[in-house]
Amino acid sequence: MIDLTGKAAIVTGGSRGIGRAIVVRLATQGADVAFSYRGNESAAEETKSAVEAQGRRAIARQGDVTDPSAANALVAAALETFGRVDILVNSAGITRDDLVMRMTDEAWHAVIETNLTGAFYATRAVLRPMLRARRGRIVNITSVAGQAGNAGQANYSAAKAGLIGLTKATAREVASRGITSNAVAPGFVLTELTTVLPENIQEGIRSATPMGRFGTVEEVADVVAFLCSDEAAYVTGQIIGVDGGLVMM
Ligand code: NDP
Repeated sequence: MIDLTGKAAIVTGGSRGIGRAIVVRLATQGADVAFSYRGNESAAEETKSAVEAQGRRAIARQGDVTDPSAANALVAAALETFGRVDILVNSAGITRDDLVMRMTDEAWHAVIETNLTGAFYATRAVLRPMLRARRGRIVNITSVAGQAGNAGQANYSAAKAGLIGLTKATAREVASRGITSNAVAPGFVLTELTTVLPENIQEGIRSATPMGRFGTVEEVADVVAFLCSDEAAYVTGQIIGVDGGLVMM
């Protein structure tokens, strides 16, 4: 049984989709949770209520992960209200798909800044309190696209592969201080990010997946919760696939 009682977590992009499931799951296991969102206030309020319904404290903070001061403010808010930060999950992410030859500079930079640089800002911001406490759990949500590449997603694949490098470098820097850094690589999970894919693409993904189905947000959150637990103390620098067997390394 994963017990996060008394722990405080920060989740970026916690208002919807996978991030929301992670926020709720961490709260269910006993953690107080501060999470960020970009602009969807009603979804954020709903997630906050779901945390409070578990009897845990929640902070919902509008802030763009591409803004380093927003990362610092989120950590400061968690420290002020909860008095500690034990867990960081970088889940905020976007797609701006196109073929490389047609991809605009803007689409490239938007995805790199949000999915990779945003995770760096949040990681940098939590490390000081975690190093002081000599404990911490960092989990980055990467993707099978970062492991295997995906046509039409050069920006997204590059950002997610970069996130794997960030995960491993951070793991090496802080392993001796009781802080772990791991990544979870979901396959295809039905959320607002993927429901926009045309039905024939969705069918192609299903048939390429050994389990023959999409994953659920809860299945991703289950693995994240384990990596955040005391039981995962000796797991660091790892990329854990939650993809129905799509990528086998
Ligand atoms: P959704 O589109 O359902 O949710 C995205 C979340 O990120 C929302 O909470 C959104 O806030 C937030 N967000 C987006 N941009 C920013 C930003 N600049 N600053 C702060 N918050 C931001 O996405 P998913 O749940 O599908 O994806 C979550 C993560 O999982 C992403 O990193 C994605 O790459 C990854 N992933 C998803 C897969 C899938 O199949 N769905 C597969 C593999 C990985 P708001 O509500 O305010 O817009």
